[in-house]
Amino acid sequence: MKILLIYPYPLYDRSPAHEEDISVVPIGLYYIGAVLREEGYAVEILNWYKIHKEPQRIVDTLVKERPDIIGFSILNANRWGGIEIAQIAKELNPKVKIVFGGVAATFLWKHFLTHFPQVDFVVIGEGEYSFLHLVKAVGKGHLKNLKNIQGIAFRRGGKIVKTKAAKPVGNLDELPIPAKHFAYQHVVSSRGCPGKCTFCGSPKLWGNRTRLRSAEHFVTELELLYNQGVRFFYFSDDTFTINEKRVIEICKMIVEKGLKIVWVAISRADLVSDAILYWMRKAGCTQISYGVESGSEKIRGLLNKRLKRDDVIEAFSLTYRYGILARAYFIYGSPEETWETIEETIDLIKEIRPFICVFYILEIYPGTMLYSDLQKRRHVTDDVWLEKIEGICYFETDPHLSQERVLAFGKRLRTEFFANLSHFVDSLDLVDEPAFYDMHADFCSRLGMTFSHGDYGQNELVLGREGAAETLFRKALTYAPDHRAYLGLGVIQQNRHAYEDAAKILAEGVKHFPESEELTLCLGINYMNLREYDKALECLLKCQASEETSYRIASCYEALGDYQKEQAFLEKGRRLAKRC
Ligand code: SF4
Repeated sequence: MKILLIYPYPLYDRSPAHEEDISVVPIGLYYIGAVLREEGYAVEILNWYKIHKEPQRIVDTLVKERPDIIGFSILNANRWGGIEIAQIAKELNPKVKIVFGGVAATFLWKHFLTHFPQVDFVVIGEGEYSFLHLVKAVGKGHLKNLKNIQGIAFRRGGKIVKTKAAKPVGNLDELPIPAKHFAYQHVVSSRGCPGKCTFCGSPKLWGNRTRLRSAEHFVTELELLYNQGVRFFYFSDDTFTINEKRVIEICKMIVEKGLKIVWVAISRADLVSDAILYWMRKAGCTQISYGVESGSEKIRGLLNKRLKRDDVIEAFSLTYRYGILARAYFIYGSPEETWETIEETIDLIKEIRPFICVFYILEIYPGTMLYSDLQKRRHVTDDVWLEKIEGICYFETDPHLSQERVLAFGKRLRTEFFANLSHFVDSLDLVDEPAFYDMHADFCSRLGMTFSHGDYGQNELVLGREGAAETLFRKALTYAPDHRAYLGLGVIQQNRHAYEDAAKILAEGVKHFPESEELTLCLGINYMNLREYDKALECLLKCQASEETSYRIASCYEALGDYQKEQAFLEKGRRLAKRC
């Protein structure tokens, strides 16, 4: 029997900056794939988040693979993609069984089975074993006994049947590690979250208890992926730092096993400590995302985000002390949002000084407390999801807010954040511990690059970009020689025509990184600007032959009056140009 597990495309395309929000196959699909493979089934996972750009591939793949069962991972954003692919699959083979699972399927199972004949089954909640039992039943043709399978819903005799809820997996370590079968970067060490935020589906999806994998089981997964070449990980737990002892255990294991990995995580500002951050940084963590949501205590309360302002300030300051980028998520357009509450958010941003802020308009999704409230307030039913929308903006449901006002809130938040961003650099206070010096240098120079060449490099709203980059590069070099910092600083000085300074910095960089082509080339060009052609040649002749370098070398020989060599390199440049 052939099974395809598909992650479909969303209703709306994302900008490149936000593509990551929808481009990653949820880890749950890998778990299901692993459970099925360990039972001997032929399973493929298809990330079809942008297959609508080449729709013929849908048909070609389905014709070639001839699946008996297709499982879809359904979020609110991609439910229509799932329906459309299911429709094509049914047209090609009416006997194929279509199964919807995932967050949106869990909360909208009745809706899908009521309105979409393409969907045969819905797996509700944690899907590994319910899906496996369903696959077994379909394989054996035992479709009359489906009622015995827990955690599913289906149509029978014109009615929709929902079976008993499946029990959550008691010990997550008993699940197979998907890395034995697949390669991926997004990993989770737990299921659930202690929070109860009104806009989040996690509390209803996972229940009140947070389940944790053992440190050993989780690090084994990292090791398996590391051995497949994965070096960068997203730890996608709702709250990675929920248990201090376990987090430290995980980090120590990563260090002991010599896994040279870089990773980012998500946490809550009231669940980090000095010890946690120390070990997270040592084990390769470079970024933590915190949901701050609002600077207004009243709004945080309305969103049930039980966070104290002091905890937020403390968490950001501690995170930065260890050279970890603290990323802040904010929501606006919330109940009772006013210009005053927006100002409170701006005040908090200035206090916590985050180098990355992500601002979202509050949206309502099935399975959240906000959605239950909306159903009561406005008598909305699940039929609202028959519309081609991904979510419902809260402001559309609140007469005190308007789209125009909420967009203006967003604009003000972003403008203020960008205008103040460069000042945040001045107060960066890193822990003075020699064991962290190399990491501090790396952190500062990376951040410097963000201002000089990266996300903020071209953003006109970010004031004082060059100054911020320079401060960060210089700070990096107070900790350790850093390739990125030498290069960044050298380029800044060159752009200012401060060639003497640039030469000093770049020459020092070349001394520490003699193999670096970038530094050597940059130094060579800088010597040309200083009209020190002998020194320039010394550098340029060490660089790889390219059209541009050849012409530069020819210019140096010309300046030195060596006509023969000048001609030879001009010729070489022409030859290389033709080859290109
Ligand atoms: S938003 Fe974060 S803290 Fe709040 S319930 Fe969801 S996962 Fe938990």
